[in-house]
Amino acid sequence: MACERLVDCAFFLRFRKETGRDQYRLLIASYCQGNLRDACKRLEYERVQGKTAPPNLCPSGYLARERS
Ligand code: SF4
Repeated sequence: MACERLVDCAFFLRFRKETGRDQYRLLIASYCQGNLRDACKRLEYERVQGKTAPPNLCPSGYLARERS
């Protein structure tokens, strides 16, 4: 089931366009649109920290590097 945060998740909105980068395509398929949604580190961050996760925090917990 897709994550209900797709409409306002900074990670998803930024990296869904990176279709040529397999790691983001797979993260989105697995977490945002797949069964790992409940394990998303962005959601955990927001629960624990009480604030919005940084845009480059991946659902797996790694920090995404922007292309230069
Ligand atoms: S990164 Fe996490 S919070 Fe954002 S859409 Fe994907 S599963 Fe939901």
